[in-house]
Amino acid sequence: MSEAYLCPKCKTNRTRFHQITQDAHPVKLDPRSGELVESYTEDELTAIHMHYNGPTVRIQCGACGLNESEQSFIAFAKNSPLT
Ligand SMILES: [Zn+2]
Repeated sequence: MSEAYLCPKCKTNRTRFHQITQDAHPVKLDPRSGELVESYTEDELTAIHMHYNGPTVRIQCGACGLNESEQSFIAFAKNSPLT
């Protein structure tokens, strides 16, 4: 089910957005150089490495550039419905 968006910053844009799909890649890095030591799939994660729990989608406003959670845009549209 789709939901209407309204940008909470510019307060006018309801139509032009970037829907950004988050694609989390678990990695282990060298603490000094930042170089990749190991990469994992979600299934391979050990007990000390938390699973990704952030949002799967972020939204960027196509008018003012605000980058926020999808919930922010949906909630603002619900508070200011089109009449
Ligand atoms: Zn905006």
